[in-house]
Amino acid sequence: MKIPFFDLKRQSASLRGELQSAMQQVMDSGLFIRGEKVARFEDQWAKALGVEHCVALGNGTDALYVVLKALGVKTGDEVIVPAVSWVSTASVVMQLGAKVVCVDVDEQGLIDVKKVEEKINPRTKAIVPVHLFGQMADMIALRAICDHHQLLLVEDAAQAHLSSIGGKYPGTTSDAATFSFYPTKNLGAFGDAGVIVTRNAVLAQQCRMLANQGGLARNEHRVLGITSRMDELQAAMLLVKLPYLDQWNERRRAIATQYNQQLTELAEILLPIEIGGNYHTYHQYVIRSKWREPLREYLQSEGVSTDVHYPVALPFLPILRDLGYTKEEFPVAYLASQEMLSLPIFPELSDEEVQYVCDRIKKFVEGNVLTAIQ
Ligand SMILES: *Cc1c(COP(=O)(O)O)cnc(C)c1O
Repeated sequence: MKIPFFDLKRQSASLRGELQSAMQQVMDSGLFIRGEKVARFEDQWAKALGVEHCVALGNGTDALYVVLKALGVKTGDEVIVPAVSWVSTASVVMQLGAKVVCVDVDEQGLIDVKKVEEKINPRTKAIVPVHLFGQMADMIALRAICDHHQLLLVEDAAQAHLSSIGGKYPGTTSDAATFSFYPTKNLGAFGDAGVIVTRNAVLAQQCRMLANQGGLARNEHRVLGITSRMDELQAAMLLVKLPYLDQWNERRRAIATQYNQQLTELAEILLPIEIGGNYHTYHQYVIRSKWREPLREYLQSEGVSTDVHYPVALPFLPILRDLGYTKEEFPVAYLASQEMLSLPIFPELSDEEVQYVCDRIKKFVEGNVLTAIQ
């Protein structure tokens, strides 16, 4: 059996008619930028989260860049981020001239809230937690820290579409949250797309200006901005898919449960844990093993594709080399980067396919595969 790590073709096939007619509508409208579908998607995404304002942009990285710029992050500031994330969480901070201050993560890869306060100093401007793999960081603790030290709190929710903690969605307890609709995310467009959500009307307007060359109207350029727009076609695709997001997340959770039940108590394999209060949407299902590389090779030889998110933790990326971060400062993130392995998880994956993956992992651990290499 061949199990792809991710297969978007299955989802597109199941929605073919709806997607095609939405594409046709965009084509017939002749409006490819700033049409009514972008505004409608902004409205629906804001309503889905219960956050007042939503600003559509070209991608999730720009969303982070624009909101941090709108909040005044600049040269001389420090921004606290978790040591495990996609590069964008750190690179946007650097683009703004500010210093990236990494904090080690917990066993689930989320910012370790116990280690945040020791990194705060008078230059600290903001904390950007990442809701890694679909599970939200401890927003109650982070809210308290930010209130106490008067810091901005911006959530990188690129992997947390309708995830919640304590029943609260991204954007409802922070200054803002950003999302990406990159095709492989839990809600994905047909190319790049992203949004900023915020309860702050003034901030939303500032973000809109910054993403539109510094103005709200044509030929108005009040501040130095960039061009980052969501295409009408992307909004059309997202509007078709949004009604299915809840059931897709539920299906991901069911797959995670099947993995958990099948792989529990397997020596040498650590399973992801859903932290209390979290509604985990399993953007990724990430196990850990010190035998990651041989396990990965074995699974590939048996037809199962896997992935590694992320082989290099943020502090050790070449772009942060000048900061001189060491492995000793980030023991949990470093070990995680050596051991994490992402298994196939997407709504269209069948129970039989998940079972096949589990059986192969069991064979690796319990059969003679692992003993042979030990
Ligand atoms: C996907 C992702 C982004 C960036 O989104 P793009 O739309 O690819 O720019 C940022 N942060 C995290 C954690 C992501 O997973």
